[in-house]
Amino acid sequence: MEAAALSDKLLHWYKKSARDLPWRHTSNPYHIWLSEVILQQTRVNQGLPYYHAFLHHFPTIDLLANAQSDQVMRVWQGLGYYSRARNLHNTARYVHENLQGKFPESYAELIKLPGIGPYTAAAIASFAFKEHVAVLDGNVFRVLSRLFLVETDILSTPGKKQFSALALELLPSKNSDIYNQAIMELGALVCLPKNPDCGNCPLQGQCLAYSANKQAELPVKQAKAKPRNRYFHYLIIRHQNHLHLRQRKGKDIWNGLFEFWALETLEAEISLENWKLNWPADWPDLDAGKWRFLSSKKHQLTHQTLFAQAYLVDFEHRPKDMKFYSFEEIHQLPKPVLINKFFAELDKL
Ligand code: SF4
Repeated sequence: MEAAALSDKLLHWYKKSARDLPWRHTSNPYHIWLSEVILQQTRVNQGLPYYHAFLHHFPTIDLLANAQSDQVMRVWQGLGYYSRARNLHNTARYVHENLQGKFPESYAELIKLPGIGPYTAAAIASFAFKEHVAVLDGNVFRVLSRLFLVETDILSTPGKKQFSALALELLPSKNSDIYNQAIMELGALVCLPKNPDCGNCPLQGQCLAYSANKQAELPVKQAKAKPRNRYFHYLIIRHQNHLHLRQRKGKDIWNGLFEFWALETLEAEISLENWKLNWPADWPDLDAGKWRFLSSKKHQLTHQTLFAQAYLVDFEHRPKDMKFYSFEEIHQLPKPVLINKFFAELDKL
């Protein structure tokens, strides 16, 4: 099928069927960038309130750049994949400090920014600056692989090259930004990963996967690793109605977020020996503590299943250098959803 005929059909369908989303009414690159980062790993309905909240707290890239990282994480709290928030913040600081708060206006310059990959650079260049670039997200990979029955692994280097070339070939010279939106929208609303709605697809007549009945086999991508199990044992340490929390650091999950003191073990059970081995020397005697089991929870992340148990213990003395927070302060700290669930139970005690 001719590329022009395909894009005409798609644009016609988009005009009738597109969702009305706030970032489609702006050419502000900061707003578009934010929406793309949120939508990379989040569904529209879940991401929308965060988009509004983020712009409410940080209406400009300069205000985001000048914010404290705890404030940024607090607004992102609950959305997951926290490295996205850290990257946004770091990139905002870079643009503020090196580019006087002004986004570069071309794909070639956008891709040089730290924290901005090919997909996001293409989306900003296309939607904010109308540059003639193809935007390839997971939806577009899926639609193209089915339309043209491409069986190359979409995660492989040859696959990425092949799909980029195909996407560029199909890109119309006029309205390429709307075409990019349209093909992404078709993937989000009709050409779904499971059970695509081929009966309502404007491209059904041209779809090779549909005629070969191979929609369910496409796109081809490497099998994902099974989520691994992790076992966390939280100790909620209370002193005069204040709780001890610490900030996670390093490359593991939840970098920068606050949590209760915790031990991680390789198995679900934890022994007294294990506690003793890890018990700081200046803390009150382990056996003397008044322990109370609070609850246990299972928490699913994309690649990890967390099994967590929480215990409450009262410290009569406050060890030196140990930071305690009031409940009001804790409400304001950025915390993982799992910690918030335990915290909500404490609130009711
Ligand atoms: Fe996707 Fe079905 Fe449309 Fe083909 S016909 S593009 S598989 S929704």
